[in-house]
Amino acid sequence: MSAVKVVQRSSLQTLQAGSLCYNKRVLLHTCCVNCAAASIERLQELSYEVGVYFCNSNIYPIDEFEKRCVDMQKYAEKINVPVWTEDYDHQDWLNFVKGFEDEPEKGERCRLCFRYNLARTAKLAETENYDLFTTTLTISPHKISKIIFEEGKMYPAFLDIDFKKQDGFKRSLVLSEINDFYRQKYCGCEFSKRQT
Ligand code: SF4
Repeated sequence: MSAVKVVQRSSLQTLQAGSLCYNKRVLLHTCCVNCAAASIERLQELSYEVGVYFCNSNIYPIDEFEKRCVDMQKYAEKINVPVWTEDYDHQDWLNFVKGFEDEPEKGERCRLCFRYNLARTAKLAETENYDLFTTTLTISPHKISKIIFEEGKMYPAFLDIDFKKQDGFKRSLVLSEINDFYRQKYCGCEFSKRQT
């Protein structure tokens, strides 16, 4: 895995007085700010202290990676949440999914893609002393949460929260509109781009 750099880290938002009061720190892997905003909101409602990890070497081309990354950083700064960004290494990701390029979305290539990003998130969560980690990927109607959970459960620190429940995806659309986020037209890799 390429080196992780801290892009921005600021004091954490005061925890909301939610009903569950876990008071635990959770690192949230995110693919884009559109999925992150509603997921952060849900975690904070549950009284988690949230940090964000933009870990997306699956995204192609790099311009797309940068656009999504900048929007994520701007929003994290606005809501005072720390964010880390993985150094982009698309070739490493391509090597990881080799042989599965022609799989349809929701298939084996996506499972490997989840595995790739969750492994890196688990590692950063451990390094930065987070109690738990999870991912925004479950908010998308194009992703099968069961597969994400199967991959996540390899790690004791994985939090299996399904963000699409309780109208999570609808809420993500509302927050995107309010905040005027850049909204991509494909999942991320060149293979998903071909399929749109
Ligand atoms: S379609 Fe999305 S989840 Fe699937 S491999 Fe491509 S970037 Fe990863």
